[in-house]
Amino acid sequence: MASQTTPEPEPLERFAVEVFSELKEETIGRRAREVNVLLRMSMLAGLEMELPSTLNLICDLAGEIVTFSRGAVYFWDEDAEVMHVRVTRNLPDPDEESYTRANVLNYWSAKLGRPLLLTRHCQPQADVLLAYMESASVLVVPLFVRNRVLGSLQLFGERTDSFSREDAQLLWILSLVAESMLARDYSNETLLRFAFTDFLTGLKTRGYFEQQLDLELARADRRGTQLAVLMIDIDYFKRLNDTHGHHAGDVVLRDVAALLTRDLREVDTAARYGGEEFILLLPETDIQGAKLVAQRLRSSIDLANFFTGARNSSVDETEHVTISVGVVMFPAEARFKRDLLEAADAALYEAKARGRNRVVLYSEIKTEKEAS
Ligand code: GH3
Ligand code: MG
Ligand code: MG
Repeated sequence: MASQTTPEPEPLERFAVEVFSELKEETIGRRAREVNVLLRMSMLAGLEMELPSTLNLICDLAGEIVTFSRGAVYFWDEDAEVMHVRVTRNLPDPDEESYTRANVLNYWSAKLGRPLLLTRHCQPQADVLLAYMESASVLVVPLFVRNRVLGSLQLFGERTDSFSREDAQLLWILSLVAESMLARDYSNETLLRFAFTDFLTGLKTRGYFEQQLDLELARADRRGTQLAVLMIDIDYFKRLNDTHGHHAGDVVLRDVAALLTRDLREVDTAARYGGEEFILLLPETDIQGAKLVAQRLRSSIDLANFFTGARNSSVDETEHVTISVGVVMFPAEARFKRDLLEAADAALYEAKARGRNRVVLYSEIKTEKEAS
């Protein structure tokens, strides 16, 4: 039996706006300027853009159709398997909190597959969100890819009458016009993600790393910040392969990669540079920080046992694995990509020469060379 005490939640359908795939003549007459914005969107559909740019464009064009005080565009994140905010306009706190709160709108719009128009005092959960956004109304328009809701455009208004049903209808057409563009950019994004991911370890590829290094070097140069590059090579890996087989070697590679990336910051990049070589890029890091990270990684690998199978006994076989690390700093020790990579390699070579399972800073060998 249904509970007598809890009030029935407002059915969401009440806030869904009925929309059509064509505009009424009155709308076309009244809103000719906005209709032209829709035409512009359809003309831009031929442009091959990256997904973030397309979402930005949708938000900008929506701004030419309606007036909103705050806005966000969410889109599905294949990696995290959640809707992720991709574009924001004037959010009160462009941090996690507003994103999490606004996610209920994604859920509703995916459920209904139609625009939603909510104002204050009509739905308790929406009220919490509207209060947080210091807004009186919100218009949510689902974004589709192949008939599936993969994102939403969320526009907040200062007044309860900031948005009309006609606005919802116009933005609905905007979403329909954008669909083919979103579908293409989305599959490109997914393809790129595969192209830039090493299949064995899940780390980034060398190609991705080099692009990222270019970007981060330019940024560090502009801002006058330092960055560190760590080149890492597993010690005596050939021996491990020879003893336990190539498959066990692959498993160890994957486990080493997981340990290397466990404590990295969001801004750091870790890539598989070659067979059993890895490379890390740590933006906004000084030499002490870089040394600390390198030593921590070296010791966490040194302390771990790596599974190599249970081929000859009933107990799991594990192996002790170590790494050598070469560290180079931008801009103190090298200013250009090639020089940085060569210096990191030289430091790594020196770590091997000094007996392996150690960290060598390029600055050490440079000063030694200068002294001799
Ligand atoms: P060092 O301490 O000097 O680095 O010795 P090492 O044996 O690790 O160095 P070397 O570069 O001579 O050998 C690297 C070996 O890594 C060669 C190859 O058998 C192995 N290797 C490279 N890529 C893979 C891979 O994808 N899977 C496996 N299982 N082994 C790999
Ligand atoms: Mg090696
Ligand atoms: Mg090697």
